[in-house]
Amino acid sequence: MSSIRQNLEKVTREIRTACDKCGRDTDSVQLLAVSKTKPISAIADAIAAGQRAFGENYVQEGVEKIQHFATQSPSLIWHFIGPIQSNKTRLIADHFDWVHSVDRLKIARRLSEQRPEHLPPLKILLQVNTSGEASKSGVDFDELAALATEIATLPNLALRGLMSIPEKADDYASQLAAFTALAQARDALQQQLPDTKLDTLSMGMSGDMDAAIAAGSTMVRIGTAIFGARNYD
Ligand SMILES: *Cc1c(COP(=O)(O)O)cnc(C)c1O
Repeated sequence: MSSIRQNLEKVTREIRTACDKCGRDTDSVQLLAVSKTKPISAIADAIAAGQRAFGENYVQEGVEKIQHFATQSPSLIWHFIGPIQSNKTRLIADHFDWVHSVDRLKIARRLSEQRPEHLPPLKILLQVNTSGEASKSGVDFDELAALATEIATLPNLALRGLMSIPEKADDYASQLAAFTALAQARDALQQQLPDTKLDTLSMGMSGDMDAAIAAGSTMVRIGTAIFGARNYD
């Protein structure tokens, strides 16, 4: 048995345990396998173990992987979760199914304009800055409603919820506080946009998954615990 298969089974068990602890249905939390920097062979192992949803941070690398698997595994779902430069929006719009890292109207407009006609609307999560000064990316809480209201009107996008990458905290209480703030922001936004189904909260990584699930995460983004440590050389 490959270690990636074993790791996926372990993470799946951990998701189930975290759900049990807070009385949630295991099916309410989706596992996104973050495969950035990892080779095609690692993704193939994960696919063989039943994984379908993958997250990538770098456009060129992600597109190469998507194209590699397009014919042999057409049912994969690809999520773009990295910082977005405006000259890369076309490639993202052409190839990905979801984008988690939208925090500016300009980027959202480009993704909508560039989304090919034959594809379904691109599913969008707004990245929210839950760490104040400590983070440069993500929209601030006080600008979220205005941005979401504009993005909800763009024709080739489907706004589905929020995402955050909180400042790293080792204690459960701080982790929980950051994730709870995101969940509350989603609830408030849902009241302001009753016609837009904001059913997705992308929060929780290898080190803080339990707190994210307790706070209502519907999608955990797990890299290291599935594929091992990343090597950036
Ligand atoms: C790399 C990355 C992850 C996965 O992080 P791990 O700690 O390896 O689980 C999740 N979300 C985003 C946005 C990332 O860039």
